[in-house]
Amino acid sequence: MTSPLQNTGLTPEEALRHYFGFNAFRGRQAEIIHQVLQRRSVLAIMPTGSGKSLLYQLPALLLPGLTIVISPLIALMKDQVDALRRKDIAATFVNSSLSKKEREHRYANLRRGQYKLLYVTPERFRKNDFTDLIRQREISLMAVDEAHCISQWGHDFRPDYTRLKDIRALLNHPPVIALTATATPEIQKDIIAQLGLSSAETVLFHEGINRPNLFLRVDTVWGEKEKLERIIRFRKEHAGAGIIYFSLIKDLKGMSDLLSRHGIRHLTYHGDLDAQERKRVQERFMREEGQLILATNAFGLGVDKEDIRFVLHAQIPASLESYYQEIGRAGRDGKPAQCLLFYDEQDLNIHMEFIKWNNPSAEFYHRAYQLLAGQLERINAEGLDYFKEQLTYKNRRDYRTETVLNIFERWGVTEGSLDEKNLRLAGPLPARLLDQDFLDIKMKREQERLYKMMLYAKLDTCRKAYIHEYFGIEHPSACGACDNDASVEQATQPIL
Ligand code: ADP
Ligand code: MG
Repeated sequence: MTSPLQNTGLTPEEALRHYFGFNAFRGRQAEIIHQVLQRRSVLAIMPTGSGKSLLYQLPALLLPGLTIVISPLIALMKDQVDALRRKDIAATFVNSSLSKKEREHRYANLRRGQYKLLYVTPERFRKNDFTDLIRQREISLMAVDEAHCISQWGHDFRPDYTRLKDIRALLNHPPVIALTATATPEIQKDIIAQLGLSSAETVLFHEGINRPNLFLRVDTVWGEKEKLERIIRFRKEHAGAGIIYFSLIKDLKGMSDLLSRHGIRHLTYHGDLDAQERKRVQERFMREEGQLILATNAFGLGVDKEDIRFVLHAQIPASLESYYQEIGRAGRDGKPAQCLLFYDEQDLNIHMEFIKWNNPSAEFYHRAYQLLAGQLERINAEGLDYFKEQLTYKNRRDYRTETVLNIFERWGVTEGSLDEKNLRLAGPLPARLLDQDFLDIKMKREQERLYKMMLYAKLDTCRKAYIHEYFGIEHPSACGACDNDASVEQATQPIL
């Protein structure tokens, strides 16, 4: 392995070939890397699968110090680091999955300057032993992956991402590269501000979101029977690999049974399967040609399959952000792919319920906290159902308790888990969660996102123009690749 301490002296093109084995940069990679090497801060918005990781991995090898990669996903860190190590790149990660011994081993290596890339979650910066150590290193670049998690209005919001400004100060204000696949103009502003940057000192790269080979269509349908008929017909006409997304596991399973009875071979992927089974299913989908998979939105991260010919949403997703991310998995090979959405008005209720359960009131948070403070031992002993009963008066279909437990963990209010009977209070209740005005705005934003998604389904003008407008990007008024575009012959023909 090349010593990470000495500069490689390679040009970006040479490093691309030498370390990554690629012959050429894709899209705007070269331009962006050039800016990073000039020590400019960058916000890059590029579609999933377009190669965003390279934008910090390659500069990390050419810059003198350490590159810190802040990523919210513990699950993906190990895969990314393993892939880098196979390329002989000195990378590592530190997160809560490591044993104490392993963590200390990595800290010792860090102290010796052994790494060029370090992956951490933002939560890591709460630990003093880590911050003491990292403060002594020269940090050349701070990379923030999945930067949309910064925005407090986003579904993926992570409270520790609001501390990135302080984290950056602690690292001596290195240049930042923030990466995301989707960000509305409002969220772009949020990202820049949360990093303690200004628009003037940040170079914005927006790769655009147009995927000319994706054909967009919406079919208005009513009920499961009609969905089934249309899926059967659709599958007969489209033999390639495809994903059918569902919002509810129950509905996914129901459709899976019906399809099996009609002899339509397929896989299923959802949160009721254990991690091992999910992994097995995903591998089969990747490996077997022309497979069909019925999945919830748990499926997709890390699915790097080029020849997905269609993404069909049997139920409307919660937002255009989700929708765009999910259809983005189709047609990575550049060949034509179909993105079909079934719009059944009744499915909107699913999300209205989700939004309700997702947004407990300040009073509810307060009551949950009081209960934990007063009866922690009993709650641990009797488990979730008991805790739920105390909070929601036996309404088992009220999922606010689950939300509260999640949010408490995210905000560091609790540690441990009820499942393991070791839930404990670790901090005070943050003012945010007691601020009803803030909580109201948050809920309203979620409702607005759903409303915009519904408008998309009911649209009678160009769908791609609508999506571009939503994400704040210029676009010609007709795309030639959606069912509402008059220039498309196919569009006027109904699917059945
Ligand atoms: P993103 O983070 O934008 O979703 P990744 O960084 O995971 O995308 O990259 C997706 C895939 O593209 C990876 O397999 C990566 O190795 C590959 N890739 C990235 N840049 C190039 C390039 N210049 N040439 C060929 N393949 C590339
Ligand atoms: Mg990525």
